[in-house]
Parts: sequence; structure tokens; C-alpha cells
Amino acid sequence: MIIIMERNATKENIKTVMDLLKEHGFRAILHEGEVHTVIDALGDKTTLSFNRIEALDGVSQVKPVRSPFRLASRDRKEEDTIIEFDNGVKIGGKNRPVFMVGPCSVEDDYEGLLKVAVAAKEMGCQFLRGGAFKPRTSPYDFDGLGEKALKYLYKAKQETGLLVVTELMDASDLDLVCEYADLIQIGARNMQNFRLLKAVGKCNKPVVLKRGPANSITEFLLAAEHIMYNGNEQVVLCERGIKGFDSSYTRNVMDISAIPVIRKYSHLPIIADPSHGTGQRYLIEPMSKAALVVGADGIMVEVHHDPSKALSDGKQSLSIDEFKRVFSKLNKLIDILKLENIGQYAPFEQV
Ligand code: PEP
Ligand code: MN
Repeated sequence: MIIIMERNATKENIKTVMDLLKEHGFRAILHEGEVHTVIDALGDKTTLSFNRIEALDGVSQVKPVRSPFRLASRDRKEEDTIIEFDNGVKIGGKNRPVFMVGPCSVEDDYEGLLKVAVAAKEMGCQFLRGGAFKPRTSPYDFDGLGEKALKYLYKAKQETGLLVVTELMDASDLDLVCEYADLIQIGARNMQNFRLLKAVGKCNKPVVLKRGPANSITEFLLAAEHIMYNGNEQVVLCERGIKGFDSSYTRNVMDISAIPVIRKYSHLPIIADPSHGTGQRYLIEPMSKAALVVGADGIMVEVHHDPSKALSDGKQSLSIDEFKRVFSKLNKLIDILKLENIGQYAPFEQV
């Protein structure tokens, strides 16, 4: 770490910092500049926290040299993490981007869900998504069918061969969700629910972790770090938009740049969700294309057999016909990116 002293730090202040560093086994090198004194400290950060140093008189800033996330970082593991499922589907690396589609909420209409699943299979999708436990802003809104929805998803899996992805909201439902799901979703609102992250960290199912609506990329990667630290390294990240100041046209601001940033600093796969990222059906196609071009390992989109009647997020859901039209274009785009060796197919370059 680098410690920058205040311009008016006294010799005594500097000595106190140096002594503390030495006491904790750090190698500290002093650079006395004309204005600021800077201390370059090398040692085991776990024995001495930043806060402790920051609190000392005369200290202006303490800056880390290494990234705060370790397990998720590319410094630790250069090659891309690839997550493989029982049926051979793979997410990450130079594998073809995966598609996860389905309704926001699984509703009490199995035939409707099956229509979406059959179309998804036909279009080459690998995952059927659908919420059984729904986080809702208002307590008066539909909050999911619970286990009944999990059973519907599982039945649709048996009929189509699609893998199931569904959200876990509470650690007490972990075993239940694991019985039916192939990929556990941690929703944006729970990105920093550390108990929940710990619980999925201790299970051996892959997890898709959505970015919190007001969380930085560092916080996002640290949330993944919590899951990995607890033993589960099968984490897929999902950019799903962050809060902006202008919600007159879009529900969120879809942070497309987060995709190449994460590919640069982390080995974990990253997918994009333009349904929640924009809140608008017509933006799903352009934002999916953009995400694929900048290297997304997959796309998650809400599709409903009749969006006008959807119990949640109908405005950002494609109908089955729209889904087929959009996804046939996305499949063509992926073929071009692969052929031309661009997007995620291009070798990873440090600029
Ligand atoms: C969802 O996928 O339906 C969902 C609630 O997503 P998010 O957590 O990104 O809002
Ligand atoms: Mn939704």
C-alpha cells in the first residue's frame, strides 16, 4: 500500500506511521518529497487494516496497490473461468454466448411457460429463466408462486432439456431452490446481502450474481469474492443496469462498459440483461447486440407468451414472435463475431 502524508505532517506523525508498519512486519520505504511525504509499505495487509493507518494524525490517504478482490481477479488467474453444466453447456471463455430467456415471474399458467420454453429451445437458448420468489418494490405486487413455480420450471426442463435459472431471495430456501435449479440467481437487490452470498458460497451450484442498481464495479466484484471466499468459484456476473438521474426514457442505465472492464480485471464470465438494464422492450435488441460486440458471455432476456398480461415486467418482456425475430439476429451476429474473431472471440489484450 502507499501512504500519503498531509503536507503539514510532522516528523513525529511520520515516525508513528513508520513504527506501526514495522511493528506489523511491513517493509516501509520513505520518500520525502518537497510537499508530501509518501510511504511505500510492503507486507501482509491482513495484520494491519487501512482504517487503522488512515486514523493516524498526519495521514492524508492510504491507497492499495493490489485490487481489493483477489479470488475474482485476473492477477490471480489469467485464464477465463468456464462454468460447465451436466448437459455440456458451458459459460465463459471463448464458448458461444449463452441465452437465458423466460418470464420475469413464473405465473400459474404452465402452458404459457411451456410455449416460451419450446420457442427458446427452437432458437438455440440454453436456459429457461423465471422467478419463483420475486423481490418486489411494493408489497402489493405479485411476489411469486414459490415452490409451485419451481415445479413448473422443472417440468418445462424435462420437456425441453433447457437448464433452469431462478432467483434465491432467502438462504432458508436454498435447499429447495437447489432441488430444481441448475443456476441460482442472486438478484440485484441482494447483491450485498452477505449472509445470502455466504450461503450460496457454501453450496456447489453455479451462481449468477446480478449487479446492484447502485453498486460500483469494485463492490460487484467484492460481492463475487464473498461467494468464492466461501468455497464456490462457479460465479457468473450479470450487468443489469444501474441507477441514473434520467428515468424518463429508461428504467436504468445499462453500463455496457462494465462488460470489457470486468473482462479485463476478472476471469469470471459476464452476461448482460437488457430487460432490466433498460426497462424497455424496444431496447432489448440494440443493447443485446452492443453487449455481444463488447464481449458478453451471454444474454438474459425476459420473454412472456402475452406481455400485455404479465404479472411483472411486461413492458420489458418480448412476445414469442418478437423474441424469435430478435434472437435470430443475435445468432447471426454471434456467427459474424466468431468468424471475424472479434467480441469475446478476440484474444484478450492488455492495452
Ligand atoms: C429478475 O431477473 O426478474 C430480477 C428481479 O432482476 P434484478 O434483480 O436484476 O432486478
Ligand atoms: Mn423482472
